[in-house]
Amino acid sequence: MAAIEMKNIVKKYGDGFAAVNDVSIDVADGEFLILVGPSGCGKSTLLRMIVGLEDITSGDMVIDGQRVNDLAPRDRNLSMVFQNYALYPHLTVYENIAFPLRLAGKKDGEVDELVREASTTLDLDEHLQRKPANLSGGQRQRVAMGRAIVRNAKAFLFDEPLSNLDAKLRGQMRTEIARLQKRLGITTVYVTHDQTEAMTLGDRVAVMKRGILQQLATPRELYEQPVNLFVAGFIGSPPMNFLPAEIDGNRVKLPFGTFELPAEKAERAAGKSLLMAGIRPEHFEDVSVLDPAAVDESRTFKATIDVREWLGDQQYAYIPYDADQLVQDHLRDLAREADSDSLRTQLVVSLDSASQAGDDGQSVLSIDIDKMHLFDPSDGENLTVGL
Ligand code: ATP
Repeated sequence: MAAIEMKNIVKKYGDGFAAVNDVSIDVADGEFLILVGPSGCGKSTLLRMIVGLEDITSGDMVIDGQRVNDLAPRDRNLSMVFQNYALYPHLTVYENIAFPLRLAGKKDGEVDELVREASTTLDLDEHLQRKPANLSGGQRQRVAMGRAIVRNAKAFLFDEPLSNLDAKLRGQMRTEIARLQKRLGITTVYVTHDQTEAMTLGDRVAVMKRGILQQLATPRELYEQPVNLFVAGFIGSPPMNFLPAEIDGNRVKLPFGTFELPAEKAERAAGKSLLMAGIRPEHFEDVSVLDPAAVDESRTFKATIDVREWLGDQQYAYIPYDADQLVQDHLRDLAREADSDSLRTQLVVSLDSASQAGDDGQSVLSIDIDKMHLFDPSDGENLTVGL
């Protein structure tokens, strides 16, 4: 096991294009780090530089205290777990796990001891004599990880290992990987474009866009304190609502009403006139399901619900609103960058499953202004981060 330190890593391809642009990330010993971002953001390139499959243009890659920029992949002792697990179909599970040990010329006795130790850890004892074709996806994944364990690899590197699987299996495998990583405590770097995988698997998540690291934080921090519009729109499903926000002193005018801003937010917004407000769907509620004594009328508004999707434990309601062309263009750009098609000029609100909002015309919804973010539309910065 080892810590991985990436210091000011740059990767420029032949045409001068910076696929990875000055990225610095420290992965602690035993940590599970996720690299996430839309297609082309440079996450696979970064992973390939860790493992040694891609040259580093500038910066330092330090593994276990040693600078490895010029070390061949085989000398880095890392284990890359590929999407198809790269198992040998004609070999048994036992021999698949033993493969790197045989390659290293280990004696039978030592091979047997290490394979059995790994198979017990991975719950594969009863499958040792089976062939990969007869195993489930989860079992195959464990065999691939077994091969990494017997090699005593310093870290596991995963490149979108679940992207070919159907949704149900993906969910199961996700849990399996999380459980194993926790049990083995092996430093892991995991590349995905799927924000659910990023949020559920990682101790910390590095969000990238066009080769640049946007934010490196725990899943909770990313969700609650996104540093910019891109991270805010990328993390969360359904995504955060983005709305034009006209600031006037300590008041904010949103498309559906004007509200008083909490003092600290008003302070951060001072001097600006038009900002982008960001509010997550769960920060709205149908007031008719709330205790009337707990409702602050100054934080409610009338809404005409277009569509309501009842999901059993909650429901989503869609409320279109009018916005000028500038705002519409901005939302469209954001949606394109974040690989999301659901950022539009409509509010998506998550309501209590008991709510009947919208059944008889207009509804009254509450909004939790304390949880609202304010972004500077010129550079996307979250002005209210930390509040
Ligand atoms: P995806 O999820 O689609 O694999 P990614 O985030 O992993 O995307 P990379 O594969 O790291 O992205 O690619 C980052 C950028 O570098 C892309 O714009 C890509 O076109 C470019 N790129 C990758 N490999 C090469 C190459 N061999 N030569 C030139 N450009 C490349």
